Amino acid sequence: MQIPGLIDPVPVPRTAPARADGRTAIVGLTRAELTAALVAAGIPDKAAKMRASQVWHWVYHRGVVDFDLMANVARDTRDVLKAHFVVGRPEIAEVQVSADGTRKWLLRFDDGNEAECVFIPDADRGTLCVSSQVGCTLNCRFCFTGTMKLVRNLTAGEIVGQVMLARDALGEWPAVGVKQVPRIEPDDDDDDDDAPRGTYSADGRMLTNVVMMGMGEPLYNFDNVKSALGIVMDATGLGLSKRRITLSTSGVVPMMRRAGEEIGVNLAVSLHAVTKEVRDEIVPINKRYGIDELLAACAAYPGANNARRITFEYVMLKDRNDSDDDARELVRLIRHYRLPAKVNLIPFNPWPGSAYECSTPERIARFSDIVFRGGISAPVRRPRGRDIMAACGQLKSASEKVSLADLDRRAAEKEAGWATA
Ligand code: SAH
Ligand code: SF4
Repeated sequence: MQIPGLIDPVPVPRTAPARADGRTAIVGLTRAELTAALVAAGIPDKAAKMRASQVWHWVYHRGVVDFDLMANVARDTRDVLKAHFVVGRPEIAEVQVSADGTRKWLLRFDDGNEAECVFIPDADRGTLCVSSQVGCTLNCRFCFTGTMKLVRNLTAGEIVGQVMLARDALGEWPAVGVKQVPRIEPDDDDDDDDAPRGTYSADGRMLTNVVMMGMGEPLYNFDNVKSALGIVMDATGLGLSKRRITLSTSGVVPMMRRAGEEIGVNLAVSLHAVTKEVRDEIVPINKRYGIDELLAACAAYPGANNARRITFEYVMLKDRNDSDDDARELVRLIRHYRLPAKVNLIPFNPWPGSAYECSTPERIARFSDIVFRGGISAPVRRPRGRDIMAACGQLKSASEKVSLADLDRRAAEKEAGWATA
């Protein structure tokens, strides 16, 4: 069968253009970059590290966007900060709330591009599903995001910005002057049984987990995702435990080892099929990195063990990948590669024009049962936010309406504008 779209194109390394007012956005700078930026803005070398720590605390721990609220920063330093920097958030173009409580934000970035971000509240946790790109180059056949024509990598700031914006919306920044309850680290497994039922995290926050499962392929935007998650995990800032963060990849094999070594979060792999024929059709990157290569990379993933298992995502497509034989082959493969694994069965979420149907509930139950009897946990994921097109694979922004040529023209116009300003 002819596979539409590109198989493994090199993603366009577009980052958002510099700000028109010439100021630097602080959100997304690593600590070292922030220190260097402060020095470049004229803050003496000796003081820069200490100032960077203060600003870091206000920005990432307190959620402050106004330099004048940074009470322990001297007034003249605040004036320097105001002249050279900005602490922002992505603009919220639209918010939708599902009947099941799931919230979806359509975010608009400085160049007009848009991406979506979803918050999924549960009884025992709150998960934020974060995007790593505008669109996705990988064209998986069952995924709405893959139909977007326009793709650009999100900057580290645009990725961290999603987490900060969710904290804003949930009202989860600590009030100034309120004593902080120390956070309790979850225990070592990934069963998520560490948060008491009915409450969320130890400090009462709702946003407890982050999954890089929104729009885009995170391992095609490695550097920015790494910087962003580094900031999200920083203990003096947003402070999420790496055990509460999951990165999902469709199988960018060459980047998996580095992801484990340099980012170190939980790994999810979009497997979705157990034969070359079917995976080639539905996850076209399989033509570049086949199932065996992918599973070998999973076996070598640093940090995976029985307490921190790799999650295999498996979308249930009627008569395509959902037979008893498929389930048995899945068990065989996981055993063959001795993978510390669990399987997440995702009922296919439809979208306008999608070519597949979801397997029947009986079929999904039977598939789950076979995998479970094979000794591997295989829960069925409950679809969330389908009514607002916020479920897995349903994210798509209007950014495709802007062509790359349009973007180049806009960027050139902006530059010309600055030159004459
Ligand atoms: N690009 C990454 C992460 C984003 S997608 C990846 O593919 O892993 C998050 C998960 O949703 C992936 O497992 C993806 O395959 C799955 N998904 C995509 N479209 C879907 C759909 N229509 N129904 C259900 N799951 C879908
Ligand atoms: Fe991209 Fe993931 Fe969608 Fe595939 S499933 S098109 S990799 S976002």
